[in-house]
Amino acid sequence: MDLYSGYINRLIEELAGLPGIGTKSAQRMAFHLINLPKERVQRFAGAILEARENVRYCKLCCTLTDQELCPVCANPRRDKSTVMVVENSRDLAAYEKTGKYEGVYHVLHGAISPMLGIGPGDIKLKELIARLAHDVNEVIVATNSSLEGETTAMYISKLIKPTGVRVTRIASGVPVGGDLEYIDEVTLLRALEGRTEL
Ligand code: ZN
Repeated sequence: MDLYSGYINRLIEELAGLPGIGTKSAQRMAFHLINLPKERVQRFAGAILEARENVRYCKLCCTLTDQELCPVCANPRRDKSTVMVVENSRDLAAYEKTGKYEGVYHVLHGAISPMLGIGPGDIKLKELIARLAHDVNEVIVATNSSLEGETTAMYISKLIKPTGVRVTRIASGVPVGGDLEYIDEVTLLRALEGRTEL
C-alpha cells in the first residue's frame, strides 16, 4: 500500500541510501525537506550538485579538493619525503587539526575488505606506489585499527618493503574499530610519535 505520494517514497529511498541513515531517519528528513520553503530546497539541491561537479581528487595525494593540488600538497613547506597513508579525507582532516604533522598524506578512499568484496584494486594503492618513485623516505600507515585497516596496513607493508622505503604503523593506542576522526588530538599525536616499523 502506498501510504505517501510516490514522490515522497522516492525521496525517502534516496535518503535511506546514505550512510548511517535508516528508514525512520530518512522519513523524518523527507518530511522536513518537503515542508521547507522552495528556495531553501533549491539551495540545498544546488549545494549537492555543485559539490559533486567541482570536487575532485588531488593529483598527488588523492584527497578531495577543488584545485589540482590540495592545500597540503601545494604547500612548499611540507615535507614531501614523509607520506602518511589514511583511509579517507576526514582522517586527513583529523591529523591536520593537530597542526603538528609536517609531512604529506595519501588518501586511499577505503580499506581492503574481503568480506565486502573490496580488493586492493578498489582503493588508491596504485597511486601510492607511483609516488614512491619521487624521493619518499617513509610511509606512515595510519589506517584504522579495524580488521580492514589492519589488513590494508599489512598489504601496504608487503608491497612497499621490497622497494627499500621505510614503512611504519601508527601506535595502536587507538581503540579497535575506532574511526580516526573521533579520536582526540593528543591521542592522535601519541599514536604518530609511537609509530613502529612494519
Ligand atoms: Zn594533495
